[in-house]
Amino acid sequence: MALNMINVPPLDLTQQYEIIEEQVNTRVQEVLSSGRYIGGSIVDEFEQQFAKYVDVSHCVSCNSGTDALFLALRALNIGFGDEVITTPFTFFSTAEVISAVGATPIFIDIDPQTFNLDLKQLEPAITKNTKAILPVHLFGQPVDMTMLMAIAHSHNLIVIEDCAQATGAEWHQQKVGSFGDIGCFSFFPTKNLGAFGDGGALTTNNPAIANQVRILKNHGQSAKYFYEHIGINSRLDTIQAAILQVKLPYLDSWNQQRRALANHYYKFLSGITAVVPPQELFGGRCVWNQYTIILKSQELEAIGKSHFSNSLRDSIQAQLQNKGIGSAIYYPTPLHLQPVYKSLAHCQLPVVEQVCHQVLSLPMFPELSTSQQEQVIFALKNCLQEL
Ligand SMILES: *Cc1c(COP(=O)(O)O)cnc(C)c1O
Repeated sequence: MALNMINVPPLDLTQQYEIIEEQVNTRVQEVLSSGRYIGGSIVDEFEQQFAKYVDVSHCVSCNSGTDALFLALRALNIGFGDEVITTPFTFFSTAEVISAVGATPIFIDIDPQTFNLDLKQLEPAITKNTKAILPVHLFGQPVDMTMLMAIAHSHNLIVIEDCAQATGAEWHQQKVGSFGDIGCFSFFPTKNLGAFGDGGALTTNNPAIANQVRILKNHGQSAKYFYEHIGINSRLDTIQAAILQVKLPYLDSWNQQRRALANHYYKFLSGITAVVPPQELFGGRCVWNQYTIILKSQELEAIGKSHFSNSLRDSIQAQLQNKGIGSAIYYPTPLHLQPVYKSLAHCQLPVVEQVCHQVLSLPMFPELSTSQQEQVIFALKNCLQEL
């Protein structure tokens, strides 16, 4: 059988642009000729449309998902002496912003089935200094927000949702980003709703919080040239807002395509012993920003060594690459083991420490074709047989 017929990239953004090229070009041209490049009605309109999409009363746009998280912590007065419980298995900025405002990230272990916070470990981690919980809906998989909000309420804790990888995901028919005090979104190009550059947004049902975020994202300016706080400059560019206005109406169908691809992967991968495919939780609607499998070596596990070995996962990734199949490792090192957090290196989080050696993210984007996907599955099966 002829292999290497088609190369499959882990991600391809050009196909999506082709679908919406005319609409995007028209809107971008309008912005270019308007002479209005910062703020304006296009940004305001997008904020309203996005608030409606997430089903919250307020949306404040900003320059990135990282800024959204930073502004959320600042607006809720989280800082020195405060502890924020979060996951060690996420993109760095989730924890980075906690440290940047002077608070301390407290990492708890994850559930290997969802890759999200293991909520059984949440209550034991709460101390008198705990101020907030910062769950991440990782890879598009919603956290069990019923359980998380119940724990947060009973301890009077703030909840900030990191929805960067989960725009459109739902927990019991309710959109993520509408459960906690603030939802934080990223419009980085690879996210489910991606701009053509940086962008981000915060969502909330609390008008006072929305107002405080607006002040902080605009240099702490509460009235014209009147500064009550030290803020930052964080804006969603008008051009990016115009592009996001074109893309938002497509988001549900793109997420639906991701879901169909995930179902298809599951059908073919669930029978393979060495592969643990990801699964949706009951009540959750995952939007599959990534499709991340666990690769397990039975032999290594039998002698208790899988923990120490990257070899199976890494050799499979290399073999896939040889067959023209791209893949990625999200994430190779848990955050409590990063050099910048060396003071936290004493904490032992065995599940995430093992999972980091076993994860492999397969090609996933709405325009991935069935034949490309079959090529991925075929190549992966081949690699496992060749071991
Ligand atoms: C992408 C991402 C961010 C940061 O978003 P940027 O727009 O790149 O700043 C934060 N958290 C998670 C989980 C992300 O995936």
